[in-house]
Amino acid sequence: MATLLAEPHSINFNRPGSTHYQVQFHLDGAWGYSLVPLTVINGTLGPNPNGVLVFGGTHGNEYEGQIAVKRLCRDINPATLHGRVILMPQLSESACRANQRVSPFDNVNMNRAFPGNPHGTLSSRIAHFVSSQIFPLGRVVIDVHSGGREGAFPLCTSFHPIHDPAQAAEIETVARLFDTPFLFIYASTMGSGLLTDHAEALGKISIGGEFGTGESADPVGIRHAYEGIRNVLRHYQLLPEPVQPIRPLGSPPPRLVAATELSAYVPCPRDGVWEPLVELGTPVAPGDLLGRLHDFSDHAEPPLEIHAQRFGYLLMMHRSARPLKGQTLFVIAEETTL
Ligand SMILES: [Zn+2]
Repeated sequence: MATLLAEPHSINFNRPGSTHYQVQFHLDGAWGYSLVPLTVINGTLGPNPNGVLVFGGTHGNEYEGQIAVKRLCRDINPATLHGRVILMPQLSESACRANQRVSPFDNVNMNRAFPGNPHGTLSSRIAHFVSSQIFPLGRVVIDVHSGGREGAFPLCTSFHPIHDPAQAAEIETVARLFDTPFLFIYASTMGSGLLTDHAEALGKISIGGEFGTGESADPVGIRHAYEGIRNVLRHYQLLPEPVQPIRPLGSPPPRLVAATELSAYVPCPRDGVWEPLVELGTPVAPGDLLGRLHDFSDHAEPPLEIHAQRFGYLLMMHRSARPLKGQTLFVIAEETTL
């Protein structure tokens, strides 16, 4: 199918059917563009108040979202769709091409660039395009992540603490449609300028999630991202078919866990070689041995033993064997209810 080149302000979002664009964002220091893929699908079955906006590749070295969202660009048939879906499978296109977390052109982390700035660097201008032109076109916002090079998570959807109870309840309901073992409420204080942060503040039904790790492409993570997004379209009746379970029948329902205080995000006490001893998603208790931090410059020294500080589930652990002092080594999240 043909792809149209388009300047950011020249897109007709009401064009019927599926249209694939490469949106031209000029570079900051050379003649040329980051050509950001965008697909707009306007269904022919009529309008729907719950437009769905989906992003992958917000971090360039996270692939489950890029693959799942790219597949949906082709798979969603406008003839069987009620309403509008907008898909951006490689939001930080330059970071995706470079296989790195941040854009090589401005070293900006797209997931800290929101709401963006029309006069800022490349990433900031793409974020501003999303905030000003894409967000007004939908009520449901989905941003698919994976741990990347440093962090590993059990399969989970995620959101921040939400003050409005109706918005929080609807976000929890929609997060469950991805049928991941965990729904993770995480700290707003760990970073600002996130895509989902900004969407939440606008009152959107905003869902993040971690569907893989380690710059790989996990087939289970891709399935949950792909089918989860389709379930969101089914739930809001954009697709006229029932919501489908994704895990095998008899799997327990997703478990809602929270780590909303920075004290839950435990920093690595020194540089070292990390030997994890507990699987992701395992329930732990205070004092449980989580891993050993070795100092291989002195093989006669015992390793530093790292223990759990509270009850909960191991929701994140440093993936690389070489954590640096200050990097988050692990997160234990406690079971909760809204
Ligand atoms: Zn990410």
